[in-house]
Amino acid sequence: MFFDLAGRKVAVAGEGLAADRRAEIARSAGAQVVRLAATATAADFRGAAAAFISTGTLEGDTVLQRAAKAAGVPVNVADRPALCDFILPAIVDRDGVVVAISTGGASPTLARVLRGRIEAALPERMGALAKLAKTFRAQANALIPDMAQRRGFWRRLVEGPAARLALAGDEAGARRVALGELDAVRRRLSPVGIAHIVGAGPGDPDLLTLRAAQLLQEADAILHDELVPAAILGRARRDAEMISVGKRKGSVGRAQPDIEAELVRRVRAGQTVVRLKAGDPFIFGRGGEEVDALRAAGLPVSVVPGITAALGCAASAGIPLTHRRFASAVTFVTGHRADGGTDEAWPSLAAQGHTLAIYMGATEAAFVRDRLLDAGTDPITPVAIVENGTRPDERVSTGQLSDLARLAASHTRGDAGPSLIIVGEVAALAAAAGQPLLAEVS
Ligand code: SAH
Repeated sequence: MFFDLAGRKVAVAGEGLAADRRAEIARSAGAQVVRLAATATAADFRGAAAAFISTGTLEGDTVLQRAAKAAGVPVNVADRPALCDFILPAIVDRDGVVVAISTGGASPTLARVLRGRIEAALPERMGALAKLAKTFRAQANALIPDMAQRRGFWRRLVEGPAARLALAGDEAGARRVALGELDAVRRRLSPVGIAHIVGAGPGDPDLLTLRAAQLLQEADAILHDELVPAAILGRARRDAEMISVGKRKGSVGRAQPDIEAELVRRVRAGQTVVRLKAGDPFIFGRGGEEVDALRAAGLPVSVVPGITAALGCAASAGIPLTHRRFASAVTFVTGHRADGGTDEAWPSLAAQGHTLAIYMGATEAAFVRDRLLDAGTDPITPVAIVENGTRPDERVSTGQLSDLARLAASHTRGDAGPSLIIVGEVAALAAAAGQPLLAEVS
């Protein structure tokens, strides 16, 4: 919450550096600061928008905190989080553009370090850019009734040429450019949006690409697979429309033509749409069909690659997919016949020195095992099953090919997450039989 204190009474009770500092901050926010002695009563606090207390003793602080609360005033007591109704975050202030950082009291040092980073990343003239936006606010809102179009205008204003001029100190030039853009938007008859077919990676939000993270912040609407975890959806712009289109093995979800039609409809209406898919959109993701549908409709589309499950699972389980001694080839294959798997493909995959990353294979483990054994793969070939790869609940089982169906059984319970099967000599390297990849340094 950012509180408007302009012209309002703020009580600062107690003496010393902390009290002085708080009085100064309140004054700089435009408050009328009233300094109170340690003997102040509830009557002295009455009518204040906020109270700051710092007497130096727990007893003194407690008495004043009760007095302020009796007057119905929210209280901050220096260095006593338990007595606080609100805290003072570390802030970065760029002439009215304010970033507040709180660790919930856990670590003021961490907050200060983060502040340093944000200070370094935020252009000095951010305040001028905010002022530019403010001068256009009423005008733009009146002239551009369409919400998506309006957001497009604002996005261009704060990221495009006008913003660059404002940040470089040319405020008159920035205003000129912004006026031109406002005019252009107003005259455009039908805005066209864009679809981004985006890979969300295997589940760990830190494995999103920078571009994916940025597009999640720009989207008007996000059509996402059910497989994409909440931790990633949480990175989306807060008022983006979130639409789950199902697509989890075992549940039906929306039919593919339905999804494609919805993409086309939304882009035609001018929206920036992110189609967010697990892993990579072009690896068992039907991303190709969505691109085709948009192109056929003559609409703009971009594809943003993601870390596919095989790469994510291999990395976090410590399985190198190729290895100078054990594997000179790796194949991504589906274990699911309905998803394009064919019986003819198996013989070419059975060779030694060849790693298989099998998607959608856990529920078909007996089938996969039989095809590979038929094709001549050695029954003692190492296998690993990685469930919920890269997620907090990742679980890895290892064994040999002849055992695959038994191993898979524990990864196909009702509430099981997605699992990937890795077959090949390299599977034996899975985090050296349960040891963590990096030994913990004590
Ligand atoms: N486009 C996705 C694959 C979609 S098919 C990608 O590139 O990763 C769905 C299959 O992907 C699942 O059945 C499972 O085999 C695999 N998968 C996706 N995420 C996974 C994860 N976090 N851990 C293990 N397997 C995963």
